[in-house]
Parts: sequence; C-alpha cells; structure tokens
Amino acid sequence: MLISLDSERRIFKDGAILIEAGTIKAVGPYETVLSQIPASLEVEKHDLGGKLVIPGLIDTHVHLAQAMIRGCADDMALIPWLLDRVWPLQGNYTAEDGRVSAGLCIAEMLKSGTTCFIEALFAGRYGFEGVAQVVEQSGIRACIGKIVMDVGTYAESNRSMHPGMVEDRATTVKDTLRYYDEYNNGAEGRLKVWFGARTPGGCTSELYREIAALAKERDMGITVHLAEVKSDPEYIWREYQLSPAAYMAEVGLLDLGPKCVLAHGVWLDDQDIAILADYGATVSHNPASNTKLASGFAAVPEMLAAGVNVALGCDGGPSNNSYDLLQEMKLASIIHKAVKLDPLVVDAETTLEMATLHGAKACGLSDQIGSLEAGKQADLVIIDSNRLSLTPFNTQNPVSALVYAATGSDVESVMIAGKWVVYKGELQTLDEEKLKAEARSNAAKLYQRANIQIASRWPLI
Ligand SMILES: [Zn+2]
Repeated sequence: MLISLDSERRIFKDGAILIEAGTIKAVGPYETVLSQIPASLEVEKHDLGGKLVIPGLIDTHVHLAQAMIRGCADDMALIPWLLDRVWPLQGNYTAEDGRVSAGLCIAEMLKSGTTCFIEALFAGRYGFEGVAQVVEQSGIRACIGKIVMDVGTYAESNRSMHPGMVEDRATTVKDTLRYYDEYNNGAEGRLKVWFGARTPGGCTSELYREIAALAKERDMGITVHLAEVKSDPEYIWREYQLSPAAYMAEVGLLDLGPKCVLAHGVWLDDQDIAILADYGATVSHNPASNTKLASGFAAVPEMLAAGVNVALGCDGGPSNNSYDLLQEMKLASIIHKAVKLDPLVVDAETTLEMATLHGAKACGLSDQIGSLEAGKQADLVIIDSNRLSLTPFNTQNPVSALVYAATGSDVESVMIAGKWVVYKGELQTLDEEKLKAEARSNAAKLYQRANIQIASRWPLI
C-alpha cells in the first residue's frame, strides 16, 4: 500500500514505484507501473507486500547538538532549563561533541523515518565541518541554520548566556557566508546552508535586516524561534511596539516567504496569523516541546484555516526528548482537539501533509520532495504494517493508522535519493554501535566539564 500525497492524494492499495538514478520515474497501480518498464531494462525488484510506503518525513525544527544532552533538564521551568542546564552544557561542547551529537541525532531521525530536517541554531563551537561530513556520510537531506546573533543575553532575564555560547555579529555572519560558499548544495545537493537567527532579544533589528538581504540575494532560508513563550511577544512589544509577526515583516524576514521558518509561534494572535498567511511564511509547530516546557498551545487550527504553511518539528533532546516525527504527528493531531473541544480539527490527513508537503515547502524543496510522484527524488519510508501495535492494519484508512498508531519504531526501511539509508531496521550509512559508544563517553566528559549532575528525585540505590 502506498500513500502518494500527490495532488489528488491518491492511495494505491496494490501500488508500485519505479525509481531510476535516485529519481521517481513512475508511481501508480502495480500493473500500470510494470507496463512502463522497457523489456530491455534490468530492474532490481523489492516486494513490499504487506508494508506501507509513505514519502520521507520532514522535521522543520531540530537541534542536533541537543541529542547528546537528552533528558538533562526534565520538569524544569524554561529560564532555569535554558540558563542552568542547556546553555552551560552546550557552552562546553567541543567540535568533536558536535559531530558525535549530530551523528546520534541523524541516526535516530533516519531510523524513525525522517529524511530531511532544518537545524535551528548550529553554533560555531559545534564545528560546521563535522556536521557537513555527517550529512554527507549519512545520506540525509539537511538545511543547517548557522547561529547568527549580536546580543548575548536572554530577552526576559538579566542573566547572560553561557560565555561558551556567545558569538559576535561580524563573525557569525562572515562564518555563515563562508560555510554557504563551501558547503551549500554539497553532499550531492542534499546540504543547504541557512541562517539560524537567535530570537528577538538575541539579535538586533539591524542584524535581521542584514541577513534578510543576504539570504534574498543567495536564495537561502532563515529560521528563528518566534513567540515561543508568553513573555516573547511582551518583550517585542516593549522594545518595538509591534506584534511578533509585524516585527518579522518590519525587519524583512517575512519577504523570504515559506523559507522564513518561524519555530513554535505559540503566542501569535489573529492579526499575526493574517500577516504570516499574507507573506506565505512557515510556522514550525513543535507540540511535544510546547507541552513539556508548558509554553502553551499554538493556534494551529486557526493558522491552517488562514493558509499559513504549518509544518512540524521535534525540537531537541532536553525539550521533547526524542526525534521521532511519527510520535510528533500524533501529538500535533490530538492536542488541538482537546484545546478546541472539537475532534474534527487537525485531522490525520492534514497532519501528514504538515509532516511532508508543508515541510518540503519550508525547505524550498517542493519540486523535489514531500510526495511520491514522477520527477521527484526517491525519498520514502516503509512502515511494517504487520507490527502488533498496528494490527489489524486499517487498510481502508491507512493514514489514520499511520498518524494515530504508528511510531518511529515501526519504520522498517528508509530510502533517500534512491539509496537505502535504513534497510530492514539496520542503518546502512552510519555505524550505530560506534555512535552510541562515542555519545556515552563524550556525554560523560561533557557533564563533568560543565560541572552538572542530574539527580534522581527518588532514592537511587
Ligand atoms: Zn528550538
């Protein structure tokens, strides 16, 4: 069974997909696709009987460096979460830690069906060369937002960032452009270099204007955390007398359309939503992070109704604590039903569109990924519909089974650009055992360097 996400949203019960040199040549009923194969062509066939094939999932808000500090700050308020745990740990990263954490995070994403992602805030100290190498080797698609910033405090606190996290404006802009020149469109075209701007309070208006102009010239994307917590719009109002979306428009970021990816957007009002819809901007909805950190509920039904490009994101190891977009889909679909007291909002089909087509649009890759159609890249995920938790598999409504019952552990194989990156549960491009060993050892040293201990609230004997 194959869910195509094509313009008619066709689902093929007995479907087939023909792939040549990484590109989809045909998708449709088995016999139709078979009849399109010239007799002279030698074809490698994979029988996927009893499996479910879907387009590769797209995670539009990821912090690669946070995989290695998964669970470092559970059940904590946002400011101590950030200032006492996350930043001191991240501020002690070495480039080797950055590479290991990126590998760990990408391995987890691949094994749970994510084939493309946007990194939100890649710091200079994490080592861009290392992440570029992991993207190349792993086979994943990535838009890496390199941090740009020019204020080293947190908007709502008089406390500064950890010194290890502070970068200066000129260096952040210069480095991003250098990485763009060296790596953009690298890894066979799978790697894009973006600006990962800090939230208002971490960047001045001048810096936003500067990167908006640079991004437009180069067709780069920009991602920013916007209106994540209640105090964010209050800060923007106090400083600029504008609402969050009006401020983003004022500094030129919204001119990038869908490639202006605003993470969270929890505290946006109807006027903000109208502005974002007007510009065609993307909001990356992160339901696990927003509920775990008690940030609030984004107005997703309203944004979707207004025509905002709402995509999905898992955020990071301390806020989620996993990088499993299938679990995120379920949460994205069910929480708004309770908030609105309406089981009809954010249905399973819309949720799957958010994780595929909307994500592709956010990355500026709508012509290449997001659906299984002739001419697009062969990025696909195979779900084992024979798993206990999916049985009996609802063949009349596979989208519902996928969104409400499947998790990343039901992913059997993953292909990107025609290449198996996960095959029958095994990572093909990265050494999983080596990565886990490196992550364990590097994390232990990191906690020691940062002088942070995570204590159990219950007696640990
Ligand atoms: Zn984030």
